[in-house]
Amino acid sequence: MAYNYDDSNIFARILRGEIPNDTVAENEHALAFRDIAPKTPVHVLVIPKGRYVSFDDFSANAPDAEIAGFMRLCAEVCAKEGVSLDDGNAGFRAITNAGTHGVQEVPHFHLHIMGGRPMGPMIA
Ligand code: IMP
Repeated sequence: MAYNYDDSNIFARILRGEIPNDTVAENEHALAFRDIAPKTPVHVLVIPKGRYVSFDDFSANAPDAEIAGFMRLCAEVCAKEGVSLDDGNAGFRAITNAGTHGVQEVPHFHLHIMGGRPMGPMIA
């Protein structure tokens, strides 16, 4: 089975510059922007610039440099948004949804970085 990437998904369109986004940070490999419907005071989506459907696709198939670039941008977002533990903040939650059981809406891998208030317990 291969991962089946759909180039018409909304994050692919953001990466092509076809629709606007509220950029928080960017590097060669990844883009971070504010969620259009934030569920928490800090709600940033970090996406790789490559074509990956989901976390398992990205972590299995992206080159090491792309994985490193993605992770470094996540750290930059945490620092910029004032949730990094390095700065003595109260922290954040980082989650990714995959597939139908994970209730993934947009089929381009993305990490939600959420914070600014206590999250409550993780539930299924
Ligand atoms: P998922 O369920 O993990 O796929 O979440 C997709 C997220 O993308 C949701 O939180 C949406 O609010 C968000 N979203 C959808 N379209 C846009 C957009 O155009 N800009 C920013 N966020 C978006």
